[in-house]
Amino acid sequence: MTGDVFNPEQLSRCISCGFCLPACPTYAMTGDEASSPRGRITLMRALQDGTLPPDDDTLAEQSSFCLGCRACEPVCPAGVEYGSLLEQWRVHQWRGPRRPLVARALMLLVEQRWVLRLLGLVRRAAHGPAAALPPEPGASDALPPEPGASDALPPEPGAAGGPDAQLMLGCVERGLFPAVSRAARALDPGLAAPTAQGCCGALHAHNGDLAGGERLAERLGEDLPGTIVTTSGGCAAHLASVLGRDRVRELSTWLAERPAGAELRVAGRRARVALQDSCHLRNGLGVFAEPRALLRQVADYVELPSAATCCGAAGTYSLLRPKESRRILDAKLDEIEAAGVDLVVAVNPGCLRQLRTGLRRRRSPVRAVHLAELLTRVEPASRPD
Ligand code: SF4
Ligand code: SF4
Repeated sequence: MTGDVFNPEQLSRCISCGFCLPACPTYAMTGDEASSPRGRITLMRALQDGTLPPDDDTLAEQSSFCLGCRACEPVCPAGVEYGSLLEQWRVHQWRGPRRPLVARALMLLVEQRWVLRLLGLVRRAAHGPAAALPPEPGASDALPPEPGASDALPPEPGAAGGPDAQLMLGCVERGLFPAVSRAARALDPGLAAPTAQGCCGALHAHNGDLAGGERLAERLGEDLPGTIVTTSGGCAAHLASVLGRDRVRELSTWLAERPAGAELRVAGRRARVALQDSCHLRNGLGVFAEPRALLRQVADYVELPSAATCCGAAGTYSLLRPKESRRILDAKLDEIEAAGVDLVVAVNPGCLRQLRTGLRRRRSPVRAVHLAELLTRVEPASRPD
């Protein structure tokens, strides 16, 4: 496909039926066909056949406005791989200096392994061992403390536990949420977690550097031979696309059932919890039943009407398009608060950051936690009150 921006076969699959329009958050926001998956594919075709010049403003705007959430994929009867088309589009739109500065800086940062380790150390020094689940303003029902928690990762178990499964520590988690990896290790002490591991490359693939995204994923596959277990839905989808689905397990698909009777209690009663799906985990890998099943075992689960819809984090989107990201998030937070839940659970660090930041800003009593953190805090069921 020399000279082509897009894989022609992928681009030809769209039959313009429009079934994807109701699933698209940017179309819902604007009602504008150009901001829908079908409209964007029409733009891609115009770019491919030269009808639109490469520097056309609408092309630039729509490739950036798209969340990359892939909600348009599962509803498409023609099997259009929209996420892949968007990655190819951004290689074209964001080549060289046209890539947003923030994205460039982050991509450079996560490639440096020493930076990842330093981020974790700085975070620990600044916030101390309790940083992962800080008390929220107005939240009177703190989760029970994690028994024996220290902020360092548990020692590597060597050959103990799962024969060849290793935990991916992740860039965002190492910097912002080290307790998530600690919780995953507590849930499965057999998981090794070597500190000599790099970035998975999802950030690169989603920001116009497909070759870099592939290179980093392959390198991580060498760092972590065997099965890779990750607490990040977005990383799972990217790694699976490069290394193959049989090499990669998102945490909820890895964990066994909880012990019978174990439950999470808040204010003397069984907790009410909701889930925010990870877009790429759900729409890319089809994983959505597993985290819900785990939550139903330990708490009263409440399905949010928009659980499957993007929270506005979308990788670097919240940094590159803060106004639109905030608009999407605000609607989501209204829904979470109206649901009367104690906790909203994320299975991706970007979603966790987005939800936690938004809830804190509102001084909401609802708290955002990662699934791994929640599951480490379940207790044997107490006698009925
Ligand atoms: S992307 Fe799929 S659902 Fe959307 S218009 Fe094209 S064929 Fe139809
Ligand atoms: S990836 Fe998300 S925002 Fe982009 S076209 Fe598809 S549904 Fe719409």
